[in-house]
Amino acid sequence: MSARVIDGHAVAARVRERVTAEVSELREQGSSPGLATVLVGDDPASHVYVRMKRKACDEVGIASMHHELPGDVPESELRALLEGLGADPAVSGILLQLPLPGHLDQFEMTALIPPDKDVDGLTPLSAGLLAHGREGLVPCTPAGVMELIREAGTELEGARAVVLGRSQLVGKPVAALLLAADATVTHCHSRTRDLASVCREADVLIAAVGRPSTVTADMVREGAVVIDVGTNRTEDGLVGDVDFEPVAERAGAITPVPGGVGPMTIAMLLSNTARAARLQAAPSRV
Ligand code: NAP
Repeated sequence: MSARVIDGHAVAARVRERVTAEVSELREQGSSPGLATVLVGDDPASHVYVRMKRKACDEVGIASMHHELPGDVPESELRALLEGLGADPAVSGILLQLPLPGHLDQFEMTALIPPDKDVDGLTPLSAGLLAHGREGLVPCTPAGVMELIREAGTELEGARAVVLGRSQLVGKPVAALLLAADATVTHCHSRTRDLASVCREADVLIAAVGRPSTVTADMVREGAVVIDVGTNRTEDGLVGDVDFEPVAERAGAITPVPGGVGPMTIAMLLSNTARAARLQAAPSRV
């Protein structure tokens, strides 16, 4: 294997250390960062994710306030809760765990979160700020991808970046962040023609598709940085979108699955919550 394997656990640990220091500084200045988590219904995976996020908050000194609503909650009740949290000065960030039960419109419900408390960075306003290249809270997984690219020591200015996947959650924000970092960005999806030759142009290749073996060694330029966001459960365990071993023979740096992008998502949620608290304490300093 020639590629350097980027250790997501190590990078995430450094982000958490940085957040711990930021949180204690904020406390000294009289503001206590707090994350409100909102969970609707009894999806087991969502319960696990929220528990992990609250535990992570605890470890860096961020208070977490948890709100659980039944799966058949009327929309008006969720709306009232989110509006109340939006107005509550003790709440720095609001995390509405997705997916919501079918009778609730995710777009409308997330839109109730004020942009300066949108620690998931998924509201239409946050997406608009990102598209306009304005400073806002950035979605956690894409923000984690950018940290990992920085960790690889990659110069993005003028680099050719290719993004596979165009979801609101990952592909679109990653492409916007790469563009903001002055990369030349090509955005691919399921209708892209001759994906392999487009990928071969990439200095930086990001796969966010959700299909194993989408990126094979013949699609990767020698020395490229390959970031694998894919998380696919298979009979062989958890795998990404990239054929790890053969691609690692050609790439300059690569993230593994598991242990690459995965650990970054919660770390960036913590980072966003500290940033939201700073934003609210002294807007001009952020
Ligand atoms: P998604 O909403 O299903 O989007 C998948 C994207 O891939 C779509 O834009 C789709 O194109 C594109 N695509 C499908 N087949 C393709 C192909 N053969 N070639 C090129 N593009 C193709 O998925 P997502 O939410 O963005 O997530 C992507 C992956 O990242 C999943 O495996 C997910 O589990 C993982 N993920 C991981 C984390 C983490 O923390 N590690 C966080 C979020 C997501 P169309 O738009 O044309 O359909």
